[in-house]
Formats: sequence, structure tokens, C-alpha cells
Amino acid sequence: MKKLLLTLFLLMFYCIPQSGFAWGADGHQTVGAIADHLIAGSKAGVRVKSLLGDMTLEKVAVWGDCVKGIAPEKDFAYTSTGRYPECAAFETASGIAAMADYVRRNNTNCNPAFDEENCHKQYHYADVALQHDHYKTGYIGTSDHDVVNAIRAAVLVLQGQPQPAPFQFKNQQEALMLLTHYVGDIHQPLHVGSVFLDADGHIVNPDEGHYDRGSNTVGGNALQCPCGNLHSLWDDIPQAFKRGRMNDVLTKKAAVISVISAPINQLPVVWANDAINDARKLFAGTQFSKSTPNQRGNNWSIGLPLEYEKTMANMKEDELIRAGAHLAQVLKAIWPD
Ligand SMILES: [Zn+2]
Repeated sequence: MKKLLLTLFLLMFYCIPQSGFAWGADGHQTVGAIADHLIAGSKAGVRVKSLLGDMTLEKVAVWGDCVKGIAPEKDFAYTSTGRYPECAAFETASGIAAMADYVRRNNTNCNPAFDEENCHKQYHYADVALQHDHYKTGYIGTSDHDVVNAIRAAVLVLQGQPQPAPFQFKNQQEALMLLTHYVGDIHQPLHVGSVFLDADGHIVNPDEGHYDRGSNTVGGNALQCPCGNLHSLWDDIPQAFKRGRMNDVLTKKAAVISVISAPINQLPVVWANDAINDARKLFAGTQFSKSTPNQRGNNWSIGLPLEYEKTMANMKEDELIRAGAHLAQVLKAIWPD
């Protein structure tokens, strides 16, 4: 009976509806809100305000996901009107035109392979195999348009320097909105680390021998747990952290953590390395099944250890705090006092 109740509890827990957006809007907005507080009164705060007008980092943190409502196959029409409350601020005629313009510029500029997403969607992540304990250019799952390089490109635009190919960021405002989003993404461990599995569910190293594209679990999107996939389970943040309720507490913690200093173009690598190590931790004690191919590719089931929700809640709090602190750090490095 006790076991049954526990199972029921876990099922309920895992059945919290998922937004499908990275970190969910709440997580991204929390990261933006923490940074808004930490840069207030600094030169970075002044520059951010001049770029965003009456918007804040908290508000624009979700723009990078809202633009996914633009459908290239429907002549770049916006197809998500009214679906995501956090996107409402961008759903004016000029706001929709700006989103469509961004997606047109960043749709096929990276020459996506047959099984890859539109370029701007790829800017949000990397898929580094967890046999590695660090991010390195050239590993399977890295590219010149992954999240590390997207952060670098946005920083360069904000520094008034040329951006590297293939990025097509229009101006500093667009770069700032995207930087805010990507710094959130790079702190979600499954946006950087990935497990690669063979058909029997055994872990393989894609950087050794022949790389089978079907072995990529795409940041946990191809790993099914009772009520969805592992990626979206990690994107959601605990109810207690939802925007507005925990921001003050998280901001206080973010203000006192020590951040690693590094040259600005190396910061996203430092953060990616942390994310890979977090991803290794979040797979501890999990088990994979044989794959069941579906129309979207291979799929595996993942068994999660008991008490997994506690592990997740602790790690997520820590990641959100670090993300907010790091966003403030990079903005202050771009615009030092
Ligand atoms: Zn994202």
C-alpha cells in the first residue's frame, strides 16, 4: 500500500502540465528578474534600460521562445496568438512583424541537415555526450551556431563588434533579448549535456568510431518518463519558484554567490562545463530501456530513482540562481562601471 501511494504520488508529481518551452516561461523570467535586480543602479542597468525602454529583462527573457510561433511553412505567419500569456506583449502588429523578420533572417542561414531544426531553434542548445566533462568545439552536438556560440554572438553585437556567421541579429535590442534567454537555457543541464544510446538502451560515445545519428536522445527529448519526456520535466520549475513568489529569495542568494571570472568569450564555455556536470548528476541512478522507434526517430523509456523530485528541485534552484548571477555578470562585463 505504501509503495502504491508512493507510486501514485510520483505519477501525480510527474503529471504537472509542461509548457514545452525551455525552462518554461517562469524559469526564464526568474533569471531575467534576478539580473534586473543585480544590475540596478549600475552602468549596465542604465544601458539595458535604454535598449529595452519600458520592458525589463524579466519581460524579454521569453522572446527567444515566443518567436517559435512564427511558421516558415505558412509564409512566416504567427500561429500562437493568445496561447502563451508571456508572449502577449509581443503580439502587436509591429511585434509580430519583428518576430517574423527575425525568423526569416535566422531560419536556414546555418544550412540545417535533414534531421535538424530551423537555425534559430538550434541557437538554444548543444548536445554534448556525457562521457565528456567539458564543452569542446568539434564534439558531436556542438556547432558554430550552438548555445555557446549564440551567447558569444549576442555579446559581440552588444559590444558593437561584428557578429560571426551564421548569426543574423538585427541590433543591440534583439541581441540583448536573446542573450537574456540563452543564458537561461545554458543553465538548464539538458540544454548542453545529452546521453547517446544504442537500440538496446546502452550508453554509447558518439565521438568514438562511427556516429549513428539515431543514438542522440536530443537533450532528453527522446527519453520518455511516465508523463512526458525528461527534457520537459527539467524545463519546468517547482511551483514554489514560480515567478514573483521566489524572486526575492533567489535574488538575495544570487547576490552573494561567487562567480568565476574568465575572458568574456570564455564565460559561456565555463557555464556549459557546469551544465554538463549537472547533466551527469541528473542521470545518476536512471535506467534506460530498449528503443521503440516512432515517426520522430528513436525513443527510449527512462526509469527515475526515488526521491528524484528532491534532486531536481535542489538542482533547479541552484541553476536559476547561477543563471541570474551570470546574466548580471556578463552585462556588467559588457558595460563596466
Ligand atoms: Zn530556449
